[in-house]
Amino acid sequence: MNTIVLASANAGKVREINKLLSSHGIEVVPQTEFDVPEAVEDGLTFVENALKKARHAAKLTGLPAIADDSGIEVDALDKRPGIYSARYSGEGATDAKNNEKMLAELKGVAEENRTARYWCVMVYLENENDPTPIITQGTLEGRIMTVPLGEGGFGYDPIFWLPEQQCAAAELSLEEKNKISHRAIALNALAEKIKKLKE
Ligand code: IMP
Repeated sequence: MNTIVLASANAGKVREINKLLSSHGIEVVPQTEFDVPEAVEDGLTFVENALKKARHAAKLTGLPAIADDSGIEVDALDKRPGIYSARYSGEGATDAKNNEKMLAELKGVAEENRTARYWCVMVYLENENDPTPIITQGTLEGRIMTVPLGEGGFGYDPIFWLPEQQCAAAELSLEEKNKISHRAIALNALAEKIKKLKE
């Protein structure tokens, strides 16, 4: 199979995606290894942003590309921060600042109203002009906690409570997270479709 470039520079995501795809026999090389700068994410939906990222990487490398766009929607915040999850706390946002801002915005909100979900959209493009991209999506339901817990994962994982697992997402190992995550659901579906394409 051709080398596939992964249009992400986020180390946490690259780790998760690599691990999942290698279990399907698909190897990806992060775009940073081809010196591809980050794409401008100015779409209004996860799908638009994922397509922009994949097209940008395919264009600059001449290779097939996979991109994801993901984020968290919080019901009590009218589904914010959504596509703006990485930049939620503004210029110079970090995971810690984003989590702090979310806890502050949800101060006083009762447990039953702190429902939230992660979204992930994955895109595969054969080349920059591919008119039939493969697009898949996945979600993971949870609740925003009042204090952070756990050292694993990334992003909002320390404040994302998983009711079924009875723990914070940051308390899961990578293997455990990859069994249930929004990214795993979208990526497994994507891998199946890519494999069909290559048959
Ligand atoms: P993206 O890199 O534009 O897709 O931004 C995704 C952002 O959503 C990340 O920076 C995190 O803030 C958040 N996010 C997405 N997936 C996860 C996850 O699995 N755990 C925690 N935060 C996530």
